[in-house]
Amino acid sequence: MTSASVTVLGGGLAGMTAALRLAEAGHLVTLIERRPYLGGRAYSFVDSETGTQVDNGQHVFLGCCTAYAQLLNDVGTLDQTFRQSRLRIEVRAPNGKRGVLTGLSLPAPLHLLPSFLRYPHIGWREKLRVVPALLRIQRERNRDRPGLRAMSFADWLRQNGQSPRAIANFWDLIVLPSLNDSSENISASMAFMLFQVALLQNAHGADVGYAKSGLSDVMGEPIAAQLRELGATLMLGRTIDHLTVDDSGRTTGLTLADGEAVSADFYVSALPPDAMLGLLPERWRDDPALALAAKHTWSPIVNLHIWYDRPVGDFDFVAFIDSPVQWVFNRTRIAGLPGPGDYLTVSLSGAWEHWPKTKDELREIFLPELELLLPQAKDAQVERFVVVKEQRATFRSLPGAPDNRLPTRTPIANLVLAGDWTDTGWPATMESAVRSGNAAAAVIQGHAS
Ligand SMILES: Cc1cc2nc3c(=O)[nH]c(=O)nc-3n(C[C@H](O)[C@H](O)[C@H](O)COP(=O)(O)OP(=O)(O)OC[C@H]3O[C@@H](n4cnc5c(N)ncnc54)[C@H](O)[C@@H]3O)c2cc1C
Repeated sequence: MTSASVTVLGGGLAGMTAALRLAEAGHLVTLIERRPYLGGRAYSFVDSETGTQVDNGQHVFLGCCTAYAQLLNDVGTLDQTFRQSRLRIEVRAPNGKRGVLTGLSLPAPLHLLPSFLRYPHIGWREKLRVVPALLRIQRERNRDRPGLRAMSFADWLRQNGQSPRAIANFWDLIVLPSLNDSSENISASMAFMLFQVALLQNAHGADVGYAKSGLSDVMGEPIAAQLRELGATLMLGRTIDHLTVDDSGRTTGLTLADGEAVSADFYVSALPPDAMLGLLPERWRDDPALALAAKHTWSPIVNLHIWYDRPVGDFDFVAFIDSPVQWVFNRTRIAGLPGPGDYLTVSLSGAWEHWPKTKDELREIFLPELELLLPQAKDAQVERFVVVKEQRATFRSLPGAPDNRLPTRTPIANLVLAGDWTDTGWPATMESAVRSGNAAAAVIQGHAS
């Protein structure tokens, strides 16, 4: 094998993965990241008042996220995560009704059937329509066909006899947290991918996992340490200004905002799509093979971090329906924090409505709502309330948007792409980012050997 020099642009999960795989293979890697730390959209920080590790947003991964689990295993942090041995999601309503979706030791999709039949949040008639719709999704052999790419999942559901209540209390219960948009705004092909891969093909595909400690402890910091150990150069807190591409269509180097020039044999752009395009010379920005990347749009996530003075939640995580509260994670239990109170994270996906609200407005809506949902919260004092808003949390998988995802290879010979938004077939997830980083490293390996 020939050792090549490779510069990786962007230190999110995609860039970290590409850099790690290439450094492991013996290449001379330089990773450049604008922020002073690695992690991109998945990082944690220490809250100044409580001293607690706070994630920028609760991140969940599923049993089907095999590339992500492999990455954590390789950097030695998989044991800092919790992973269900069998799917179990408790779904509560404000009227106290509780349902549990559980996977049993049966082949998929039968593993879900017994708990689904007992699920109290939709009626019998609705259940009798959900089952054939699930089977239709399972049997679809070409989920990527143009008709499904262009259609919204909600339209498909309605055409297949699903009631508004079934869409809200079953389909969107899964779609919204997984794809960060409701089924109205998701292409049917992406929703089919989710249901097929997570729920219908493998009885452990949807087993829930999450980091017990902060995201940076599990990803950014250990990966940075491993990269340094492998001899990679990390240029943190450095912004890339532009790439130079010569007349023959090869990248000859890049220039940082402070004027420093960096050059290498190969370049991996693991930047968001608009940032990647913005670095290219104009002629390449308009190239039909690249320009589609400009069409991506973004969906917000808002996380509320709430410290109570006493235990208020008898769960590690729970989902709510018929409430603005969506999913609540009890970080005190998950991270084994000393207490005495509970630190809860309320994760609000597709948070268009809540995004513009001030911290006080969010407090006014969500604290009373939590008292309604969690009776023990009524007598508890809120000691701290922190809001983390991520406006560009995930690229949107709108109907038609799958067409805007670009392949790893570009028309520029020594520039390859990574990033969750590239054409991995996965939604905007850590799994997609890791897969894209693996794919970018594999293409360069192919060129270099
Ligand atoms: C609040 C929130 C909750 C989420 N929840 C989940 C979840 O539960 N499960 C899940 O799987 N996924 C979740 N995600 C999505 C997941 O975090 C992303 O899919 C993944 O982290 C994307 O990684 P990436 O490397 O592709 O992109 P990014 O993380 O965006 O990395 C791009 C990097 O490029 C850097 N950069 C940009 N411009 C420049 C420049 N000019 N010079 C140098 N560097 C530059 C950026 O600083 C950034 O670090 C969530 C995201 C958010 C925000």
